[in-house]
Amino acid sequence: MARHSLETSGPAETESIGAELAARLGDGDVVLVRGELGAGKTTLVRGAARALGVVDPVTSPTFSIGHRYRGAGTIVSHLDLYRLAGLELEHDPGLLEDYIGPGMVAFVEWPQDGAAELAGARLSVTLSHGGEDRREIEIVELAAGAPTGGR
Ligand code: ADP
Ligand code: MG
Repeated sequence: MARHSLETSGPAETESIGAELAARLGDGDVVLVRGELGAGKTTLVRGAARALGVVDPVTSPTFSIGHRYRGAGTIVSHLDLYRLAGLELEHDPGLLEDYIGPGMVAFVEWPQDGAAELAGARLSVTLSHGGEDRREIEIVELAAGAPTGGR
């Protein structure tokens, strides 16, 4: 299981890391994005979405669990499951199906246990504060990642 640790010194660099990750993703892939509030999760997803051809502004989902953006040849899903209780997922297993699957590449902030779609994730990215504008970014390739789409 490959693991990479990186450090960035500003949001633009974190966006670039997102763009580099995006270049390695394929149809149906899911990326789990972890880290405290303000760690840079949405910033990284923004860079990834840009690289996947999204031109609309990429903002944190607030009134829904996610946004779906039109990219170049793919939908880019951006989920934030912070307010989603595990129980909701158990009772409505289809909750994520509009966001994860063939034709989409998905980034999931605050991934929760219990969703089959997340169990098949391809990468886990963890961001942490490193003082001022520095952020540490750990990228783990999830060997167990079952294909969620056309890969
Ligand atoms: P999260 O989604 O993890 O809550 P955001 O990406 O929304 O975090 O916010 C991160 C904040 O930190 C932004 O205001 C961004 O400009 C700032 N920031 C400062 N340095 C960095 C960095 N190296 N990488 C990412 N964001 C940074
Ligand atoms: Mg966020």
